[in-house]
Amino acid sequence: MSFSELGLIPEILQAVADAGYTTPTPIQRQAIPVVLAGHDVMGGAQTGTGKTAGFTLPLLNRLAPHASASTSPARHPVRALILAPTRELAMQVHESVRMYSKHLPLRSTCIYGGVDMNPQIQELRRGIEIVIATPGRLLDHVQQKTIALGQVEMLVLDEADRMLDMGFIPDIRRILALLPAKRQSLLFSATFSDEIKKLADQMLKNPQLIEVARRNMVSETIDHVVHPVSSGLKRNLLAHLVRHEEESQVLVFVDTKFGCSRLAHFLERHDISADSIHGDKSQQARTETLENFKSGKVRVLVATDVAARGLDIEDLPSVINFELPHTAEDYVHRIGRTGRAGKKGKAVSLVSSEERHRLADIQKLIKLEIRQEIVPGYDPEPDFHDAEGGRRKRGSPSPAAARGVDAPAAGERRKRGERETRETREPRERSPQRARQPSHIAPDGFDFSKPYEQRNPSAPADSEAAAELRGSHKAQRPIAFLLGGLGRKH
Ligand code: AMP
Repeated sequence: MSFSELGLIPEILQAVADAGYTTPTPIQRQAIPVVLAGHDVMGGAQTGTGKTAGFTLPLLNRLAPHASASTSPARHPVRALILAPTRELAMQVHESVRMYSKHLPLRSTCIYGGVDMNPQIQELRRGIEIVIATPGRLLDHVQQKTIALGQVEMLVLDEADRMLDMGFIPDIRRILALLPAKRQSLLFSATFSDEIKKLADQMLKNPQLIEVARRNMVSETIDHVVHPVSSGLKRNLLAHLVRHEEESQVLVFVDTKFGCSRLAHFLERHDISADSIHGDKSQQARTETLENFKSGKVRVLVATDVAARGLDIEDLPSVINFELPHTAEDYVHRIGRTGRAGKKGKAVSLVSSEERHRLADIQKLIKLEIRQEIVPGYDPEPDFHDAEGGRRKRGSPSPAAARGVDAPAAGERRKRGERETRETREPRERSPQRARQPSHIAPDGFDFSKPYEQRNPSAPADSEAAAELRGSHKAQRPIAFLLGGLGRKH
């Protein structure tokens, strides 16, 4: 199938061709016709699947009749609102919107916090059809009456689960109340918790479910390894690994903002080019750091989970978890920065004795026993293998890593609760029984094999979309190879 068969106008087809895309990805094949037909969409898709073009191309197509070369701001009301959880993601989406709308006189802008509001106000005054925003800053503009949302026809909520994690749902509800009831809404989320479903109920009308990537699926091209190591030796082990890495660039994940900067400084002191990215940095610093990493000027980027999702960093060969995430799902998102588009990737985790329960949760979630290798000279705490009845030989893979999956000691759980400086919110405890559900049943019972509360008989039950849905385990590789084969352009 080609883009021209999807019913897009020539100006958009031209922009797609300029981007170098020849074949729509599965999410694009499914989403474009549904959005063009004016339906609401509940989309289960992660970054890296071509999701952004999947909603942006039909959105532009629907707004194209309003495109106007007039200079009068009145001719350019806000008609589409795209909400994204982080500034980086908002900027990335805006880049795509700009690229795909370059042959249309439609104006777009990106508004996010952490920077001066005045340039954004000037920009909004000119008249802008498409606004990509983070929720908090959008509400600042609403409060200052520098944006009017009364003519919004299309709303996109990108990475709704991340919005939830970051505490944005009350803001989203406030924003929804400001929008005309008659509008088209698209909601994208990698996971569907009860809260997300409640939000979907509130904001979507007869939504059609579109899903390509199976929830929590980990790319098959990623090689996972755990290095058991005592917490006191982690920094030195990291420096050792980075020095011995053949691959040049590494993204390192840590838990706290404070630890993030400190670790980057430590590496710098050891002559390893490194920088850090976290929520306390100014927006300008975050953008520069990311650019420097993307362009290869910086070799190691140390990040908190703020950088875990949504960032499209090309060709990243390796991700290191300096600390395992508190929530198993975050492991999937973190390592999703590598092994993208069919390329090989490496997911390395430095695990101290007190993190064993996190490792257990992760292994259960991804249904994979991760190989364990002790790096000589960087031993774990003596109790690391207690539950396994003794220590393993150095450098040898674990015969039964999954046996380290016992529940954490009460003290460990207490420590988890005591951490105050974590970048993201403390996750809720997960029931161990969740991971044992069949793969099409989410932990909360949501069945991915069925369209979401389908009330419309023309919903994708018998369509290609439903076929994709049923076979979405298989869909992973073709998407990856498709993107890898064609090369990614931005
Ligand atoms: P996204 O999931 O929207 O972040 O997209 C992931 C990457 O795939 C981006 O770098 C896009 O430029 C690229 N991409 C999107 N659609 C296509 C396509 N049809 N063919 C090739 N690359 C694409």
